[in-house]
Amino acid sequence: MANADQHIATKLIHAGEPSPRVGGAVVMPIFQSATFEYGGQAGYHDLTYIRLNNTPNHLALHQKLAALEHGEAALVTSSGMAAIATSLLTVLSSGDHFLAQDSLYGGTHDLITNDLASFGIEVDFIDADDPGSWKAKLRPATKAIYVETMTNPLLHVADLDAVAAFARAHGLVSLIDNTFASPLNFRPLERGFDLSLHSCTKYLNGHSDLVAGAVIGRSPLVAAITRRLNHLGGSLDPHACFLLHRGIKTLAVRLTYQNASALRLAEFLERHPAVKRVYYPGLASHPRHQRARSLFAGYGGVLSLELQGGVDAADRFIARTTLPIRAPSLGGIETLITRPATTSHAGLAPEVRLRLGIADRLIRLSVGIEATEDLLDDLGRALET
Ligand code: PLP
Repeated sequence: MANADQHIATKLIHAGEPSPRVGGAVVMPIFQSATFEYGGQAGYHDLTYIRLNNTPNHLALHQKLAALEHGEAALVTSSGMAAIATSLLTVLSSGDHFLAQDSLYGGTHDLITNDLASFGIEVDFIDADDPGSWKAKLRPATKAIYVETMTNPLLHVADLDAVAAFARAHGLVSLIDNTFASPLNFRPLERGFDLSLHSCTKYLNGHSDLVAGAVIGRSPLVAAITRRLNHLGGSLDPHACFLLHRGIKTLAVRLTYQNASALRLAEFLERHPAVKRVYYPGLASHPRHQRARSLFAGYGGVLSLELQGGVDAADRFIARTTLPIRAPSLGGIETLITRPATTSHAGLAPEVRLRLGIADRLIRLSVGIEATEDLLDDLGRALET
């Protein structure tokens, strides 16, 4: 069994595992049963039923995820967006207002500006690196503040300690999308955040073969989000629970390797004459490198770069690489390459992309677990003109 003092690599394997083991099985079996025998439960939300996210597969994951980030409780969801949407729709109601970082994952940005707005929930976007500017945006109806650990695709690292302190000082619920760091590289609750959200589709599962999300935090908040999710219906299927459970166990070995590999690639690319700029918080040249060092155990597997040429040069480079797969998403064991203006950020108007600093020629790499030397060779060859 795991205990709170153990290293995260140990907790990944042992936390939340059933005790005693089911039939002695070393691996948590899949409980493919929609409903379970009535055991005298007092209320509807306590019945055991897949949509209520409370079958043995869900409960084991909840305990494991809570242990990984030192949360009181956790909840798995059918996707990262289900975790984000349900959390926001729990802490905010019609007439409420909240603050959100100005360069969020595109899906979250759309949710906030289109869907939440249509429910009468208002937002002001903030520069999450400029704490002095936040107070002026507070209103009596302000209830929450929402940020990401590292932004996509430019890898900004906001003043996260200031966000948590600001939320405490003004009675706001602080929410952070911790997908890019995962519990291995950053544990937001230890720094004072109320809710940590994940797209488990990325590092937590790590194999690009499922969609899932998670919410980790204090028990009353997670319980309220669970109740809302019970009605919104974003439950995780037991088969996906099983795959996620399996994937989580190898997070430490995967991401430790990806942290190191991405740093070596970033350093190589930064030195290369054909490269104009590399965005990676692990580089000493990153404007918030010292902050990232103090917050994170590692800098993750995602880096972005701009070449000396324009979009054509970027597309030629991508076409010449042979190992990275041309695909959006991130956090898997295979290296992926994409030009965000054509994929993850294609939904933004060109002028908005430009305002956010996302040039059309920007290339994003999600570094997998291939041999670093092979990736260095491949990128090096692709950069030769
Ligand atoms: N948060 C971040 C930072 C993401 O990159 C993504 C997806 O790319 C999501 C949330 C949404 O996750 P999902 O696709 O699992 O719904």
